[in-house]
Amino acid sequence: MRFYELRENRASGYTGDISAASKWFLPGAKCPGCGATWANAAVAYPCVDLSRHPQQAAFVVPRAEPLHEFERLRELIRPWAPEGAPLPPGTRFGPLVGNAWGRFGSFFFQNPWTLLVRREAMETLQQAGLRGLAGHQPQLSFRQKKELPDLMELQLMPYGLLHADCLRQPPAPCPRCGREGSELPEQLILKAASLPPHTDVFRLADFESVLVGTEHFKEAVQRLGMDGILFHELPLR
Ligand SMILES: [Zn+2]
Repeated sequence: MRFYELRENRASGYTGDISAASKWFLPGAKCPGCGATWANAAVAYPCVDLSRHPQQAAFVVPRAEPLHEFERLRELIRPWAPEGAPLPPGTRFGPLVGNAWGRFGSFFFQNPWTLLVRREAMETLQQAGLRGLAGHQPQLSFRQKKELPDLMELQLMPYGLLHADCLRQPPAPCPRCGREGSELPEQLILKAASLPPHTDVFRLADFESVLVGTEHFKEAVQRLGMDGILFHELPLR
């Protein structure tokens, strides 16, 4: 099986853009161990609905909290999150809320780590047998009333790691908060043994801003003539 990094195709010629933020957040954390105040910008679970969470007000305002308070809030969220899902500081939940304008292709990258897809394209890919495709509809106000696109934000689970051979230094996470702080290398090599056998699209678990699709995903997207996305093959080791 071949694996591909997913990137925005700017040459598609679409004018669509959105200005939106997730509805709920875990706060960032101030760690007494490594001294860092940090949040992960990439990890998001748009299918998680916290609207009936008794403490939902604690997850509305992005901010940083001392690590122990972050850990307390994280445990309040854990039962609502997908089983076993990593929940780093800054994890986002629920739909994107904001504004949209312009014309959209099949896929749209709000940023390199947030991927939206037209609902009919997602359903076509699911019917084609692709695994791991789940998404949630954002709450977007459109400036133009005609041709409203029916977009879904994909919920991309963190799976798979980079191979140590492409990292400048071996990962050394903070023992207290788990922060790695490694820089994303220019040449990515995937650790073959870490890759998920059960899904065709995901984000890396150690560099969550990197989105990855399988050969099945690439072939289906191209065969069905879907646009807005580029595939860059990643070597395995
Ligand atoms: Zn730390």
